Amino acid sequence: MKIALIAHDQKKDNLIQFAIAYRDILAQHQLYATGTTGTMIHDETGLPITLFRSGPLGGDQQIGAMIANDEMDMVFFFRDPLTAQPHEPDVMALVRLCDLYHIPLATNMGTAEIILKGLQEGFVDWRKLQERRQ
Ligand code: PGA
Repeated sequence: MKIALIAHDQKKDNLIQFAIAYRDILAQHQLYATGTTGTMIHDETGLPITLFRSGPLGGDQQIGAMIANDEMDMVFFFRDPLTAQPHEPDVMALVRLCDLYHIPLATNMGTAEIILKGLQEGFVDWRKLQERRQ
């Protein structure tokens, strides 16, 4: 699975703790991240991560492009609900593309944990459901 990792500044510690706790599962997948988030997670976990630009400089849109090209399977985007973001339109665009293409999107640690445990158990089958409808 191709998994994107993004966290706003106030949520980066949350996502790093999450990545440390679930390092073994994440290590079985291809990881992508916005620049600062990915660098911090890599430094803390040693996980290989393909880095895009920093979110405010277009990184969210780069991940959105992967979704539109059917190249991303899952997004963990820990958003900060208390701080205005200069790139809010990019954030909303990414969330919209996740909904458009049925990409599981976790915007907080609680949801992320459930999705990752589902992935580990192998019951994340939305791609097959989608194929059946086509
Ligand atoms: P960053 O971007 O990982 O480069 O900080 C995240 C974001 O704010 O979208």
